[in-house]
Amino acid sequence: MSTLKAVRGTRDLLPPETALWNHIEATARRVFARYNFGEIRTPIFEDTQLFARGVGEETDIVSKEMYTWEDRARAQSEKAQSLTLRPENTAGVVRAYIEHKLGETGMLQKLYYIGPQFRRERPQKGRYRQFYQIGAEVIGPHSAGSESPLRDAEVLEMLATLLDELGITGWTLALNSVGSASDRPRYIAALREALKDKVAQMCGDCQRRAETNPLRVLDCKVPEDQPIIDTLPQIADFLDDASRAHFTAVCEALAACGVKYEINPRLVRGLDYYTRTTFEFTHDGLGAQNALLGGGRYDGLSEMLGGPKAPGIGFAMGEDRLVLTLAALSAREAELADYFIAPLGESLNAPALELARALRQAGLRIEVGDGSFRLKKSFETGNKLARKIILLGEDEQQSGILTVKDFASGEQSKIARAELVKPSKE
Ligand code: ATP
Ligand code: MG
Repeated sequence: MSTLKAVRGTRDLLPPETALWNHIEATARRVFARYNFGEIRTPIFEDTQLFARGVGEETDIVSKEMYTWEDRARAQSEKAQSLTLRPENTAGVVRAYIEHKLGETGMLQKLYYIGPQFRRERPQKGRYRQFYQIGAEVIGPHSAGSESPLRDAEVLEMLATLLDELGITGWTLALNSVGSASDRPRYIAALREALKDKVAQMCGDCQRRAETNPLRVLDCKVPEDQPIIDTLPQIADFLDDASRAHFTAVCEALAACGVKYEINPRLVRGLDYYTRTTFEFTHDGLGAQNALLGGGRYDGLSEMLGGPKAPGIGFAMGEDRLVLTLAALSAREAELADYFIAPLGESLNAPALELARALRQAGLRIEVGDGSFRLKKSFETGNKLARKIILLGEDEQQSGILTVKDFASGEQSKIARAELVKPSKE
């Protein structure tokens, strides 16, 4: 008999790796608690209509990635119900918000979830058919402040904190505004107009999208299409005053609390329910699947699902990708030398080698640059090879007080050579 294996795109998670998953989830729960979020658990499968209406018929998720089946009818008179394994969790959370009348409390609902999601995508590194998301939503009546740009900024600041606490360094936050429901039609009309005489040169997917959902053209990853996409109108020019003021306020609040971001006018995200703020955190260590998490505002979603007006904002992080990033970062960490010595001038090459010898004898892992390097090149090379850099100039050589910079923290300090060469304890 042939042996059975886990289905393509799914996998088993085993110890010791599961310890890392538990660590990530525990860290997320701890951080969410500090921001006063509570956990919600919604069913793994829902009525197919929820995703068709909530996520959007024309999205990749609904049009080709869902696991959908007809449930058996219980009686002959009953119609079989179409059910779907959840491909994302925001629609389910908003359904629950409506079903349990959470809006009637008059308070903001701050909910987080952790669990599996299902999409029939082509399996590859960082992309699975059963994957795990950690997400959160802030949703409530307008009177509770749910539309405030402060909510957007607070969610983004929480994410920066969570990634920092997980030890994920080197992420980038891309931010955009896709405008309100009334800005969008004007932009889409302009996009359609601009695409008219360009789309014939674009990929097959774009030709289809130009008809059905022109916004999705901006998501296209085909290299040949990129120069064409760069010439298309940008949504920023179609925002009304209220949307523009909202976006400016989000950016200002982020700047005030020191969260770095880049504005990406093409970031429209793959789900139809987004309004105003959209965002993505990416990480270079992930290769092609570089998105750690994505999210945005969905001020009209509750109404799209037949509920009351309930603006909201949320995100979903790919837990599988957090695990991959942490594993890559710790592998890199293990490869790094303790110090990179940068001699500042060729006359300091010989003293640099002498210092390296002393530090190596003390048990430290050392790389040495060259006095012909410019300072910038020393820093770049050092950053690739070591955790810290030692600048060895004439002054340092004379005084024996070395200038040391830690690449991770950016901190620069003066350390006596005698301190560094103390033999290690091992
Ligand atoms: P991508 O552009 O990578 O396909 P997406 O825009 O489809 O991402 P979302 O639907 O916003 O992503 O989901 C949020 C996060 O969930 C993504 O940033 C990613 O980290 C993760 N994710 C999405 N699809 C998968 C998948 N098939 N396997 C693993 N993680 C996934
Ligand atoms: Mg996707």
